[in-house]
Order: sequence, then structure tokens, then C-alpha cells
Amino acid sequence: MAKPSSPELLPALAWHALPEEQAIQQLLGEELSLPTLLEKGLSQAEVERRQKQYGPNELKAKAATPAWVKFLQQFNQSLLYILMVAGAIKAFLGSWRNAIVIWAVVVINALISYIQESKAEEAIAALAKSVVTEVTVMREGQKVRVPSRELVPGDVVLLSSGDRVPADLRLVSVRNLQVDESALTGESVPVEKRLGSLPEDTPLADRQNMAYAGSFVTFGQGAGVVVAIGNQTQTGRISKLIEEGGSLQTPLTRKFEAFSLTLLKIILTLAALTFLVGLVQGQAAVSVFEAAVALAVSAIPEGLPAVVTVTLAIGVSRMARRHAIIRKLPAVETLGSATVICSDKTGTLTENQMTVQAIYAGSRLYRVSGSGYSPQGQILPQEDDSPVEIRQSPALEACLVAGCLCNDTRLQAKDNGQWEVVGDPTEAALLVAAQKGGLDREDLQRRRPRLDSIPFESEFQYMATLHRLGPEEHCIYVKGSVEALLPRCGSQMGSQGEIQPLEAERIRQQVEALARQGLRVLAFAQKTVPSSQTQVDHSDLEEGLIFLGLQGMIDPPRPEAIAAVRACQSAGIQVKMITGDHVLTAQAIAEQMGLGGGKPVKAYSGRDLEQLGPEEFVTAANEGSVFARVVPEQKLRLVKALQSQGQVVAMTGDGVNDAPALKQADVGIAMGRGGTEVAKAAADMILTDDNFASIKAAVEEGRTVYNNLLKAIAFILPVNGGESMTLLLSVLLNRELPILAIQVLWLNMINSITMTVPLSFEPSTGREMTQPPRDPDANLLSPRLLQRILLVSAFNWLLIFGVFEYIEQTTGNLNLARSMAIQTLVIGRIFYLLSLSQAIPTLLGRGRASQLERRERLMDVAAITIGIGAAILLQILFSQWSLFNALFDTAPLAWEQWGFCLVVSLPMIGVAALANRVDPEGASLARLPRKT
Ligand code: ADP
Ligand code: MG
Repeated sequence: MAKPSSPELLPALAWHALPEEQAIQQLLGEELSLPTLLEKGLSQAEVERRQKQYGPNELKAKAATPAWVKFLQQFNQSLLYILMVAGAIKAFLGSWRNAIVIWAVVVINALISYIQESKAEEAIAALAKSVVTEVTVMREGQKVRVPSRELVPGDVVLLSSGDRVPADLRLVSVRNLQVDESALTGESVPVEKRLGSLPEDTPLADRQNMAYAGSFVTFGQGAGVVVAIGNQTQTGRISKLIEEGGSLQTPLTRKFEAFSLTLLKIILTLAALTFLVGLVQGQAAVSVFEAAVALAVSAIPEGLPAVVTVTLAIGVSRMARRHAIIRKLPAVETLGSATVICSDKTGTLTENQMTVQAIYAGSRLYRVSGSGYSPQGQILPQEDDSPVEIRQSPALEACLVAGCLCNDTRLQAKDNGQWEVVGDPTEAALLVAAQKGGLDREDLQRRRPRLDSIPFESEFQYMATLHRLGPEEHCIYVKGSVEALLPRCGSQMGSQGEIQPLEAERIRQQVEALARQGLRVLAFAQKTVPSSQTQVDHSDLEEGLIFLGLQGMIDPPRPEAIAAVRACQSAGIQVKMITGDHVLTAQAIAEQMGLGGGKPVKAYSGRDLEQLGPEEFVTAANEGSVFARVVPEQKLRLVKALQSQGQVVAMTGDGVNDAPALKQADVGIAMGRGGTEVAKAAADMILTDDNFASIKAAVEEGRTVYNNLLKAIAFILPVNGGESMTLLLSVLLNRELPILAIQVLWLNMINSITMTVPLSFEPSTGREMTQPPRDPDANLLSPRLLQRILLVSAFNWLLIFGVFEYIEQTTGNLNLARSMAIQTLVIGRIFYLLSLSQAIPTLLGRGRASQLERRERLMDVAAITIGIGAAILLQILFSQWSLFNALFDTAPLAWEQWGFCLVVSLPMIGVAALANRVDPEGASLARLPRKT
């Protein structure tokens, strides 16, 4: 498909200075009254024409840093400085061949890191983009959701709290609309929006009749006409692109940097010492220098940075496959050390498949039969099985009508006989209940058309709609939590439709009885107002409502979430439920899910928390498993309280006001489906399926990533250790060097990278979730890991030193002795790699294995096989190819000499087994059998 020729630009007018009608005319080129546009929007044909004309609504990123700068930045590593300087001195001393090889290795290293890094960055950016932002627009007279990139100039966009403003809009209708423009203006206090035209020279921050792309709606509603898209928006003009994903720095890479720096100091000291010792012993300056350089080079794990980046990037893509999109790389690691997960209830721990099972109206309790969203079912009295005649139960009818009309959701029949909810499952359940009671929604909507509404927001816990009843009367329907509604009610509807005094206590008892069964309870009320009232506001609902009844719905726990909760608990991670729902409902569900971990669940309501002093609050945060009816500020306090106890907190959120808690949490998790754009922007990770089980999967992958990094360290460092021990000793003993600087480089870079990168692909062992969380402050090298490294280093030293001395003394051929020492080391290394990898257990078919997993695992084995194969091939070239002989001072081996190397390296198998015993964490062969 041909790219659309460069899209036309809209005239850059001072949109804020035009009156609304004039702006519309400019945009659409025709006389169109404001109400008509708001009602109709653009036609599909017009949208398509405009899409061709103006192109997609996308920010074309201008790369923040040019590629060549990024490439040069790769050289900015202290370890590489040493190498470059060493190369320079070599050149100065006249050994050009050496200098060039050293420099070449440095460049290759930088190139590899550069490629890996840009691949990782691209992958993360692509994932972040894969979370599509949708917007609500009016088109063809219908409210529809479309991807933000499909917007065209002239589109009418409807905004409500939590939305990201998708393009620059000239506002044409506002209702308490507040917008956070901090990304644009730096001003963090949300701005109140108004209509009307402004002077042309009004600065951006004061243009109250505009909403600019990239800002967020924090409150209220509004509508605006698109006046600029893509790079022509203000955001597109001023910034390159707000960096999604950010840098590749993580706590771990920072630890690595610190570690390299320490290493560097040690190395430089040792190298200087070597130099001095050599001189004192009266060796020639040139050869002493060669030894010092070789030592410096040998101790540096040059291949490690590349491996870290690859491992983290692979973790990111594995998590994506398991429905967790990482927005910020450090989250990959932090997830692995999480000690507490605070999760939403509805939809994350539960199915979000609501079915009304109980109705309380006119002081009577009814049951509702049927399941799911199918309209099959009946409303039955508590006592017997004869369906209720709804016309004879006016209170019941009113309660159902309220649920049906005070509702923004639709149910669509799918081909397979299933029902699809377009909107909120809680509301869908109310529609189904009304249908079971024999009500016809369309008929109701015709007879009582809606005039206005206040949408549901967790903060207020209710929703209200205003309807025309007759020429004289309008009626407000309200539904919401009992706590929010009951104080506003002055009376209640009796069983025959009569208005009677409110029995608040009895209603509360009823609510508790229903909630204790795990039902989510909604209350319903109405209020009649004169027909002069055409709008409904929060202030209209303060008092005088008539209570109509309650509806209680089940929302069963997700079975996979129950399993995931258990897995988290055995992994030493506490799971806490945070919900806007009733405390007893939440507690009942938490009990069903085993959140207490065998003990009774401790539950706190937001009101309980309010009463607590700072210290009691911390105790409650630690001990409670359920926090119900909490407001967003309390979520933030909970995170802080837990963190003050040294916990590493993962927290989910979806609402507008959850952003601070998500930012404060060590890992902020937003819901990909149900979450607002505000929450997504604040999160470190986004769940594409809103499922708690995916959080557990991400934790598991996070732990795998860390383990794989430890494996890489356990693999790479012993070679450095062996090499440096060898060199140090040889200088002290005043012997020929068993291994030269350029050979060391070959081993540390070429050989290390080919053999270590496959470790990044190692799958999870299935053991990750049986261990306690990792202490994020712990040292990179645990004492056990250190012992392992020392043990294998010592053996490597024996190999190099022993083989070199033996061959040198028996043949007198220096190059051959060095080549054989290196080949022996590499063969030993292959055995050691296999002892760390899971390739063998996988091939032996141990562990879990569904068909799919088995295939995946074979892929993982493939990585190791390719790595080892490539390493062998390169080693053969290294000693057998005359070019490499000349470059690296090697000599070809005869068959029996290869055999010698193989036999001598065999004891590595025993050493590796011993290492696995010393440090079982890194071992795969010592894998525990999986509990099922
Ligand atoms: P959560 O998502 O944690 O279950 P919410 O904040 O969505 O909590 O809901 C809190 C309470 O608000 C619910 O217990 C219910 O009483 C009420 N509620 C939920 N959804 C709606 C809605 N669409 N309309 C009116 N009230 C609602
Ligand atoms: Mg909810």
C-alpha cells in the first residue's frame, strides 16, 4: 500500500479566539449549529475522506538522541577505558597488531551492546504502544469508541474523567471539566475549563476553552472539536515525544556499575603491583607491561553488560506473552522482589460476571433464579416457588425500573448464544434482573426519556439520571452504595407503592446479611422534581430521596486467581484486597479465596482506617488482608505504611485518583481494559487481561530474570577469576605468561558472549515461586555465589596453569601450550554451562510439560545448543586457522592434543556438581520436584 502523500496541514488558527460556532464552521466548512454537531458528529464517509486528507493522529517521534551519539555512549564505560588505553600504550610500544586487535574487540563490544540496547528499547516502546488508547467520539449520531489514531480534525470528542485528551480540542461543552495539563505546562494543579472565546494573545496555560493533547481529564465531563492532530498538536510541536519506557537503567544495572567500579579499582591496584613486582624482579619493562595489561583485561567481565540488557529485554517480552506489559524496565526486577501485592477485587480477583441473586424491596426479600447474563430466570418470593407478579409489587417494580434506567450499559447477543457486556458488568446485571421481572427497557426509555446524568465515580459511589415523567414532573433515579444513598433518603417506598418513614436500621441489617454471603449490594432511590429542572447535580441529591430497595449480585472469584493467590503465598508474598465494595462482601470473597492464608481474614473499612493513629495504621496495613470502601488517599497511605515496614509493594489501580498510589508503589499496575488512561500513564506495568493471575505470572518471570542474571554471573566470573589467578601467579613466580592479553580478550568477549547470552533465554524452573522474595538491598554476590565463583575459578586456574606448564615443558612450544590451555578451559566451560542450564533436565523431560510448553522449552534448549555450537566452531578457528594463529599467537592442535584437552577438562563435571551443592540457587540439576 502506498503511503498517503504527505498529509495536508490544517490552518493553524487561534482557535481559542474564535467563538464556538465560527470554529466549527472553519473546521467543517459548513453552517452547522452546535447542538446538531454535538448530536450527530461526522459521517463515516466524511471521516474516511478526512483520514486520507490529514493522515493518522500520531506523534511521529523524532529520536531523542541520534544513533551515532548512542553508539559513542557505549564506549563510556570505565572498563572499556582501560582497554582503549592499553591498546594505545601497546601501539606506542610498537606492537600494532596487538593494539588493533584490542581496539577491534572494544569496537565489537560497543557494537553488540548498541544493537542489543536499541533492540531492547524498541521492544519496550513497541509494547507500550501496543496498549491502544481509545476515545469516545460522536459519529453518525452514535457515541462510539475508536482508537485515538483514527481521529480526524472536526471529530467531536467526548471527555470524561480519567481520559487522556487525544488531540487538541476546542471545547464546545463542559461540565465541571478539570484537566491536568502538567505534561504541557508544568502546572500540576488541574485547570478548570470554561466556554467562550478568549483574546488572541492568551498564553497556552490560560486557554480555558481548549483541551490539549497529552493532558488528562481529572474531573467532570466535556466535549470538544478536534482542531489539531498528531505532530501539529501543541505537544507534537514542543516536545520530541514524551519518552515512553524511559531508560534502560534499573537498580540492578546500577549495582553492576558500582560493582564494575570496585572491580576496576582492585584490578588497577593489582596491575600496578604486578608491574612493580616484575620490575623489582628485574624483568624487562615491555614484558612486565604485557603482564599488567593481561591481568587488567583478564579480570574484567567485558561480556557482562550485554548479557544484562538481553536478559532484561527477554524478561519484558516473556511478561508480555503472559499479559503483563512493562512500561518501565526497572519493574521487571522489582517485581521479582515484591513482598506484598495489593489487588483490586472486582474484575481482578473476581470474574466481573455479575448476576443479581437477591432483591429487597417493599420490606420483602426476593430471590432471582438463572445465571450469567442470560435473561432466563424469574423473580421469586423468598418463601415459595410461584413467580412474582410485578404489577402487584410496585416497590419491586420501581427498584427494577431504577436499575434499568439509571444505567449506561448495553447487552449484545453474540452468535454463540452468549451475551456481551458493553459497559459496566454491575449495570449489566441490573438490566438482566429487570428483564427477568418482565420489564422492557426500550419501552421504558421511550416513556421516560433521559434528560441528564451524573456518571458513576468510585469517589461518590453513586450514579444519577434525570428523566421526563410527564409535562409537570421530572424524576431523578439514583443507584449506588448503601452508605452513600441511605443518609440522603428521607422515606421509603412501601410494598404497595405508598411512601412511608425510612427503616434505616432494618435496611442496614438486610445489607449486612446479603454482603456476608459475598453479594455486591447496590441501593436504589428516586426523587420527583418539577419539570423546570432539566439538569441534575450532586447538590440535588443531598436529601429527600425515596429509598426503593436493594439488589445483591454475585461475582464469583476467578479460579485461576485463587490458584495464583496460593502460589503467591507459598512464594512468601502477601496478597491484600483493596476495594470500593462493602467490607462484608469483600471479606466473604477474601475468605473464599483464602487470602488469610489459613487464618481468618482481617478486614478494615475506610472508616475504620480513619479512626486509627499513625502507628495503629501501620499495624492495620500489615495485618489486614481486606481494605474496603477505601478512598484513593487511603490507598496511598497504605502503600507508604507498608513501605515503611520494608515491604516491596505492588499495587493495582484503575481510577483517576489512583495515580499517586500507583506512582508511590514499587510496582504500580494498571488495568489495560478497565483502567483509565490516567492510571495507565502512572503505572509501571499494565495488565492486558486485568487478571490477578497475570500479576503472579509477572512476578514469576521477574524472579526468573533475576535468577538468569545470577546464572550469567556465576558463569562468566570464574573464567575471569581463573585467568587473573594464573597471571598473578605467573608474574610472582617469574614465569612465561600462560595466556596473553589478546587471548584473554578473545575468551572474555567472543567466547563469553556466545556462551552466556543463551542463559538469558533459560525458562523458569518452576521453583521460583517456592522461594521467599529476594531482598532488594542484598549484595549482588551472595556468600554462596561467591564461594561458587571461587571454587570454579580455582579449578579454572588449575586448568590453565597446569596445561600450559605441562605442554610448555614437554614441547617447548609456547604458542601451542597457550592454545591448549585455552582450549581446555573452554571445554571445561561447556561442561560448567550445562550444569547451570536447564537444557539437560528439559531434554530428560523432567518438570511440567504441556505440549505448548514442551515446544517452548525445546526452543530454550535450542538457544544453548546454538551457543555451544558457535563457541566450538569459533574455538576451532581460533587455533586451527592460520589467520587467527597470526592474530592471536595461537598454534594448531593435532587430534591427540584435542583429546588431551578433553580428558583433562573432564573433572570439571565433578567440580560443577560440587558448585551446585555449595550454591544450589544457581543449579538446575538439583531442581526440586514440582508440587502439583
Ligand atoms: P470495586 O471496583 O473495588 O468493587 P467500586 O468503586 O467500583 O469498587 O464500587 C464501589 C461501590 O459503588 C459498589 O459497592 C457499589 O455499591 C457502587 N457501585 C459500583 N458500580 C456502580 C455503578 N455503575 N453505579 C452505581 N453504583 C455503583
Ligand atoms: Mg469498580
